[in-house]
Amino acid sequence: MHNLKPRVVVVGAGIAGLSCAWELQKNGYTVSVLEAGNSPGGRCREIELEGLRVRAGARMLYSFYKGVMGLVDELGLGDEIVRIGHASIACEAAAGPYPLTFGPSRALLLGGAMGPAEWLGLARLLPDLINTRRKGDPDDWLSLPAFDGASLAQYLGQKGLARFNERVVEPLFRGARNWHTDEVSAGFFLLTTAFMNGHYAFTFKQGIGQLATALAARLPVTYGATVARIEHTAEGMRVSGTRVTEHRHEAFVEDAALVVCAVEGDRAKALLAEPDTHASTFLDQVRYNPLTVDYGVLDTPTAHSLTFYGSGRGEDLAILETVPGSDLAGDLPRLFCQASPWRSRSPGDPAGHQAALAAHAQACLPGAKVQRWVRQHIPSMLPVPYPGYLAALRRFRDSQAASPRRVYFAGDYLSMALVGGACASGQRTATLISAHWPDAVPSL
Ligand SMILES: Cc1cc2nc3c(=O)[nH]c(=O)nc-3n(C[C@H](O)[C@H](O)[C@H](O)COP(=O)(O)OP(=O)(O)OC[C@H]3O[C@@H](n4cnc5c(N)ncnc54)[C@H](O)[C@@H]3O)c2cc1C
Repeated sequence: MHNLKPRVVVVGAGIAGLSCAWELQKNGYTVSVLEAGNSPGGRCREIELEGLRVRAGARMLYSFYKGVMGLVDELGLGDEIVRIGHASIACEAAAGPYPLTFGPSRALLLGGAMGPAEWLGLARLLPDLINTRRKGDPDDWLSLPAFDGASLAQYLGQKGLARFNERVVEPLFRGARNWHTDEVSAGFFLLTTAFMNGHYAFTFKQGIGQLATALAARLPVTYGATVARIEHTAEGMRVSGTRVTEHRHEAFVEDAALVVCAVEGDRAKALLAEPDTHASTFLDQVRYNPLTVDYGVLDTPTAHSLTFYGSGRGEDLAILETVPGSDLAGDLPRLFCQASPWRSRSPGDPAGHQAALAAHAQACLPGAKVQRWVRQHIPSMLPVPYPGYLAALRRFRDSQAASPRRVYFAGDYLSMALVGGACASGQRTATLISAHWPDAVPSL
């Protein structure tokens, strides 16, 4: 019997895994983080794809992410913040183009997307928004359980805002989230909309991955380590898989008292040798959506422009953006062509799709030429908060909190489909472990 805090292996160095490991390490636990990729941050970092610097996921963070802002302070990243102003978005819809903005704004109210009927409908939304701002936590879906019953499209329809959904919310959700408003419940919309006012969007000077890089620099992280199995042993837990070292693949085994599984929620169950009933039932209900982006590398610098497509226009496209590029390595001027949710699910042959995009680009940018195309496919973009998901999540979180266990979970699918949610989930899991396995417990 030793009086040591248990050793914890964290699987996955996304924001959830890193923030969990960081809290545990500060509380005196010995942690070890295993990451399949070659850099930290998961879906919140930049990666190199065929010589092009691209985002692996998140575009911007919001100052209403409490856990993230705490880390920014703690890690001394305040001076590294770069605020992102409201981008002006053109929306292409069947009825013609009109301007859009993320979140409420004068331009949105007066810009042609909305008329007197929508202004009246918005007045009916206000009580829910005010209540959300007072009682909701933008990092946690479960702070708004009442909005789990119907889809966002139905919710807006009931408020007399079907046209607002079609002209504003659907194009924004289709582009920024790759969701249709009839497949998700209203909680995400209310939480993000209610907290936008008075807050700002930002990234970092070195890119969105700077937060994860700063955290990982303070933690023992092994890269290129793909975990295949998490199992119970007589002494505790065993994590095994394959590690890439100098271009060779080697099997590895790590023993620990506890494991935090911080991989994408739709991959977690496959790693568990013996998932308990709660985990098994819940993880079967977790769904993520896939995303396909085609980048057309341009031969000349270009001005920034951002167009979102309503579902009546551009069956294949959700976003077309011209990106000027920068001095950072691989940050070349490019077209960013994000496929529609439908097209992302069955992306098909890149050559055919890219030829159509090239013709489209030619019309938008007569002076520029696409030198080459690069395709990015993200199999698990965001967890889908479909109606009924929050009830399943509530049951699972309650079961996790009820008693000490050997395997814990962290990730955006357990809190909110944003970096703030992933961070909050990691921190919540660390708090749970500290409560379940406090100081001076016998080692397993
Ligand atoms: C295209 C896109 C746009 C987005 N836009 C925004 C945005 O603007 N703002 C925002 O806040 N959020 C945005 N998000 C969401 C945000 O990026 C995620 O919610 C958040 O980063 C998830 O963090 P996580 O730690 O839960 O998961 P992840 O970041 O996915 O981390 C999981 C980690 O586990 C690793 N892993 C997986 N399997 C194994 C294994 N077997 N062994 C070892 N390691 C493994 C993965 O490599 C990964 O590093 C966006 C996401 C995408 C994809």
